[in-house]
Amino acid sequence: MRRRRPALQLFSLFGLGPAADGGVTFEAALGDHPPTIARPPADSGPAVDLAGAPARPGGCRADRPVRKLAGMTVPVDLLAERLRRAAEEAARQNVDLLVVTPGTDLRYLLGLDTSTHERLTCLVLAAAGHRAPPAIVVPRLEAPGLAELPLDKLGIEVVTWTDGEDPYLLVSDLAGVPRRVAVADTMPALHVLGLRDALPGVAQTLAGGVLAELRMRKDAAEVAELRTAAEAIDRVHARMGEFLRPGRTEAQVGADIADAIVAEGHTDAAFVIVGSGPNGASPHHDLSDRVIQPGDVVVIDIGGPVDTGYNSDCTRTYAVGGQPGEDVLRTYAVLQEAQEAACRAVRPGVSAESVDAAARQVIAAAGFGEQFVHRTGHGIGLDVHEAPYIVGGNELELAPGMAFSVEPGIYLDGRWGARIEDIVVVTEHGGERLNGRPRDLVVL
Ligand code: ZN
Ligand code: ZN
Ligand code: ZN
Repeated sequence: MRRRRPALQLFSLFGLGPAADGGVTFEAALGDHPPTIARPPADSGPAVDLAGAPARPGGCRADRPVRKLAGMTVPVDLLAERLRRAAEEAARQNVDLLVVTPGTDLRYLLGLDTSTHERLTCLVLAAAGHRAPPAIVVPRLEAPGLAELPLDKLGIEVVTWTDGEDPYLLVSDLAGVPRRVAVADTMPALHVLGLRDALPGVAQTLAGGVLAELRMRKDAAEVAELRTAAEAIDRVHARMGEFLRPGRTEAQVGADIADAIVAEGHTDAAFVIVGSGPNGASPHHDLSDRVIQPGDVVVIDIGGPVDTGYNSDCTRTYAVGGQPGEDVLRTYAVLQEAQEAACRAVRPGVSAESVDAAARQVIAAAGFGEQFVHRTGHGIGLDVHEAPYIVGGNELELAPGMAFSVEPGIYLDGRWGARIEDIVVVTEHGGERLNGRPRDLVVL
């Protein structure tokens, strides 16, 4: 199909100077437990496969209208500050232009909560030092959905396009002649390649490394949202005796937990892991039809977003149908000590990897080093898994406002597993756990 260039006379083109070649570091965003869903959110369409359809960005319907952020109106001054800092960080990382499609980065920058689809919507934000104003490119039919965003106050131009036109050429008209364009990490390949064709010869890189610099340091309001989410998931764990009993399947227990996650204040259950007996030895197990047996050790790892988009994620390990054996208690005590040691290691100025090491040393010293098969934790915020990652090799210095999980585990193949997970926020002098449920092996 012939590419139709939409009319665009809004801006003078950028006058971009030469940019030094610089690497943009990008931390792999793979989580140790990619969210799985136990129940579709109430407003989603068809039922979601229990066995692991991704919860987000699922639920994407082709013509779902843009809607504004529910539940929390981010103050316009704060959004302006985020946009300014994003532009500065882009310049610092030798990126000329950020192109951000719907997703958590856009939610962070604009308070815009919508899903991405085949029609291009994106924020086009020039790095600091470039003269062009920011713009949002949006299909004309979805432009009314932007009405409640403070775009005027933020100085963001709205550039619409109509079916049949080529929106990538619009972006290129806005972009002028950049050297490096950073695209949102979750931008569909459809749009990445469309943009590449419209900006031939321009290097593409990921915007995640730029925006993570902002997003991983939470402000007080964001920490408050994470605290709200943590308290909500704590209430679900507090009710576990209602759901978790021998004779029920993991899937039955998981369905009840998913209901409770919503009932206790989340918008949906992003993931529900019920790993009973041998299934607990697989960290990414979600749910199965295995019938829970008396004496099983059961790993319950659950979470989801509250209405502002901030997530909970908390694991407790339970013993059902009676007291567990001595070996279970001894091994669990090692895990508890490791989790405690890692939480105590959190303070500003230490490296992310040192927190991982604090947990790993305890577990390895007890002879279970080979059975702790994942990193100690991941950042959390608008995404369940985001920077900073608490993993060997990550020398990032922790700073106040960073929030992440501390979730060591011990997995005994074919027998059972255990994990303890709290969300920890770095404070001025140490770390604060947002989850408050007891960390002992809970006997139900
Ligand atoms: Zn995990
Ligand atoms: Zn978890
Ligand atoms: Zn986690």
